[in-house]
Amino acid sequence: MKILIVEDERHIADGLKFNLEAEGFDVTVAETGEDGLAAVEGHAAVVLDVMLPGMSGFDVARTLREAENFTPILMLTALGQAEDVIQGFEAGADDYLPKPFQLDVFLARLKALLRRSKWQKRDAPSEDSIVVNGRTVDLTNLELRTPTGTIHLTLMESNLLKYLIDNEGRAVSRKEILEKVWELQEDTDTRAIDNFIVRLRRHLEDEPNNPQILRTVRGVGYRFVRAD
Ligand code: CA
Repeated sequence: MKILIVEDERHIADGLKFNLEAEGFDVTVAETGEDGLAAVEGHAAVVLDVMLPGMSGFDVARTLREAENFTPILMLTALGQAEDVIQGFEAGADDYLPKPFQLDVFLARLKALLRRSKWQKRDAPSEDSIVVNGRTVDLTNLELRTPTGTIHLTLMESNLLKYLIDNEGRAVSRKEILEKVWELQEDTDTRAIDNFIVRLRRHLEDEPNNPQILRTVRGVGYRFVRAD
């Protein structure tokens, strides 16, 4: 299994490469975003640094997703940069790890991501599917099947949707979403969540501007209501 590391700090890239190879992975290292994009084909996952010379890690993730490439991305962010984490999810990252990190945590997170993506490729119907407003939300395969096609969800989009569904009927605050879904404790700009909701509404609602399923609760956050 091949892993692509996009990281300009040589000592970090070398350390990750050494340890991944010890675990039996084939590793490619790219030192810029541009080189990473050129090399991504055939890799099972991308470990992506945010701060890169030239193209940033955000740009790399966005470019991949816009090209309908859903290779799992583990983003490496600077410690304590909650805004970076949100921006990374918006760009299409599937998980993040703040620097500096423990190697065993890194390996565990990457393996979890790979397991997750293996499930995505499975053809068998998922047990974790629910029907909402005529759409099938498949939380195992990270898919939303609508009458007009199948939408791929990132891990974070699907985690957000799952959290709202699990709390059906209850108003969930943006702060609670940040803490429970994304494990961010800091005072992040909670409006970042709104962008995720807009995207989910586009696919779940009949009229995204008049939402009946992912409802806004003024001054609080959001409430999931299954269509009648
Ligand atoms: Ca860097």
